[in-house]
Amino acid sequence: MALRFYNTLTQSVEPFSSSDGKTVRMYTCGPTVYNYVHIGNLRTFAFQDILRRWLHRRGYQLNHVMNITDVEDKIIRNAAVENKSLDEYTAKYIDAFLEDTATLRLQRPERLVKATEHIPEMAAAIERLESSGYTYPSEGSVYFRIANFPGYGKLSHNDFSGIRAGARVDVDEYDKADARDFVLWKARKNGEPYWDTPLGPGRPGWHIECSVMAMEYLGETLDIHAGGVDLIFPHHENEIAQSEALTGKPFARFWLHSEHLNVEAQKMSKSAGNFFTLRDLLAQGHTPEAIRYLLISVPYRKKLNFTMDGLQAAGTSIERLRNFQLRLNTAKFPEGLNEKVEDRTRQAVERFEESLDDDLNTAEALAAMFEYLRDTNSAMDADEFRAGNVSAAKGLLAQFDEIMDVLRPSDAQSQLSEAEIETSIEARSAAKKARDFGRADEIRDQLLQKGIILEDTKDGVRWKRK
Ligand code: AMP
Ligand code: ZN
Repeated sequence: MALRFYNTLTQSVEPFSSSDGKTVRMYTCGPTVYNYVHIGNLRTFAFQDILRRWLHRRGYQLNHVMNITDVEDKIIRNAAVENKSLDEYTAKYIDAFLEDTATLRLQRPERLVKATEHIPEMAAAIERLESSGYTYPSEGSVYFRIANFPGYGKLSHNDFSGIRAGARVDVDEYDKADARDFVLWKARKNGEPYWDTPLGPGRPGWHIECSVMAMEYLGETLDIHAGGVDLIFPHHENEIAQSEALTGKPFARFWLHSEHLNVEAQKMSKSAGNFFTLRDLLAQGHTPEAIRYLLISVPYRKKLNFTMDGLQAAGTSIERLRNFQLRLNTAKFPEGLNEKVEDRTRQAVERFEESLDDDLNTAEALAAMFEYLRDTNSAMDADEFRAGNVSAAKGLLAQFDEIMDVLRPSDAQSQLSEAEIETSIEARSAAKKARDFGRADEIRDQLLQKGIILEDTKDGVRWKRK
């Protein structure tokens, strides 16, 4: 079966192809840079990384835009407390976001765009909405009149037809019970940063930011729009209302939403105080690969319950994968090719691909790999796995890691290159041959200090990283 995704808009799983068959035009809502991101946020961004990699693997080019929300209530409040300009305040957290996502090996979107660099375009869009009768002013602010947009509610599947006309909400975040006309442009308040525009002095609301930047770089109808489930209402519902009121065209063909990362059944969030940043976990000695593995191991539409045990288990799973890779790279297998083993490898490739085609079922894809590891390790123990089977098995591992990207140890653990390690191993063998066992042990200990473990096997010396 072909590639398919669950579309929040239609509430069904639909076959996916991009509208031109070549490039996927995708917009994802990025971070609000008022603090370090936590691993709940990073779960959502990790899902988008898998989405990117799998689309690429299915032959698509990507044109992916992510916004950085760098003007917003919390940012303004915090910048004022620290007596900094918005730019000064957010620069630190933008850098931290880029660093954290790189540490987790999340591919960079083709474009990262800042809200504060698109204010004139936002004001122009609001003026166009004004002239087509979708807005009204109040005390210097401008609101979107949701009663004038009949499709309001189609993404969150709520019936808002009975709500009181004219009731307004000024904050950007609110829940369904509070569905009202929302703010497009916020009038200048004393002591707050503002921009002078034809709308008067003020700043944009959060929702207009995404509509304007998405359409500016990706056109009127996107292939995919994604974010966490908490964004379905009101943020994405409002994005649809604004964008479709402007163009009369569907804003996005596919809406993909990832579920939350929870701690003890509660959403991880800054406000609940139950959060870990990536930095917290790295400081505790966890590796970026284990954290990445944990975040991607649960299919994106299922809640992920974060525990330290789960993180340990992720590390153990990576060890198993690396041990298998080591065995493939270093063991001496009997000559020939075993067709049954080749079939088993092909079957694993198919199951891996089929799982990811199925709305990115990462848990199934991992299960396919671990069952293969179990069967193939047994085949190796029984000398059924032959030298001719190595190439396909390595191919499977490479395909797997092109998406999962967990095999390569992070820099801290991999200060020595393979060539350097091989040279040390040769020096140790030479020392042994010369019966200089003191020197041989010394070389082994030096390697161990750098995280390299040597194993003497009947086929010679094998090494692995700690
Ligand atoms: P924010 O910086 O709050 O705008 O959030 C950035 C992204 O992280 C959004 O797509 C949110 O939906 C997502 N997000 C926030 N909290 C969580 C969580 N606990 N689990 C998963 N995603 C989250
Ligand atoms: Zn957005």
